[in-house]
Amino acid sequence: APGRIFEVNAAPTPGGGAVAVLHDVTSVERAEKTRRDFIANVSHELRTPLTSISGYVETLLEGNEQVSPQAREFLAIILKNATRMNRLTEDLLALANVESGDYKLKLQSMRASAIVEDAIDSLTGMVLDSDVTLEAAETTDALVLADADSLNQVFGNLIENAMKYGKSGKRVLVGAKLLDRKHEDQQMVEFFVRDFGPGIPSEHLDRIFERFYRVDKARSRESGGTGLGLAIVKHIVMAHGGSIRAESELGAGVKFLFTLPCAPEKKLASVEPLPQA
Ligand code: ADP
Repeated sequence: APGRIFEVNAAPTPGGGAVAVLHDVTSVERAEKTRRDFIANVSHELRTPLTSISGYVETLLEGNEQVSPQAREFLAIILKNATRMNRLTEDLLALANVESGDYKLKLQSMRASAIVEDAIDSLTGMVLDSDVTLEAAETTDALVLADADSLNQVFGNLIENAMKYGKSGKRVLVGAKLLDRKHEDQQMVEFFVRDFGPGIPSEHLDRIFERFYRVDKARSRESGGTGLGLAIVKHIVMAHGGSIRAESELGAGVKFLFTLPCAPEKKLASVEPLPQA
């Protein structure tokens, strides 16, 4: 049937045959798309009024002497919350974008070791005003196929979390290794971000990638988190054809591991015969 989407469940039968069951999931897909579009539109519409609120509050805070100390205090609270809401709309928009089927990646061949170095370099600014050190661990020279901007977002979120929640561990390690086992014939590189903080209780480990899921709601809010970071990260990794998981031992920190497919090996360019003059 044209335009309809089916999910196929196939199973062998005792007689040596097979049975396939088709589920029409067209309406589910449509509802999903409507939900995503709605969220993207709402986030987009909220941007302009939020920018206006922040702008006017900032102007009041910067200039006017007639603002009483109490009004100043309230204005600062308004600004803080407008900023928070702005971050939330940005993250909602980013999530709606990566969740949609037409999320476009600009894939290029990149060296895993260079990705790790870049991630550390670009986030060192954040480390400067913290007492956590960001260190490179083992890496590999293998080439992966990835979108540079999306990868920045992935490492940005994971390293920011590690520094935020794992602060007490003082160190954050970033590394990569080539996996020996081939995943459906595709060689993969596994990247990791590891901290030595309090860790995540095992019953939460599978759920932290869900949108708005937080282990400690109050703490996450207070630290300015939106609860969407890991959901965005997961979708970006999946769009690359990789997967992500977290390992944690309570009191010994968390290690986030995600895979990316290797770039196909370059074949030696065949030498074209010279055209006959
Ligand atoms: P948030 O904006 O709340 O940080 P995330 O999606 O980035 O949202 O993370 C979801 C939750 O996972 C966090 O609220 C926190 O409870 C937990 N978490 C993420 N990274 C770490 C970490 N490195 N150590 C401990 N807990 C973490």
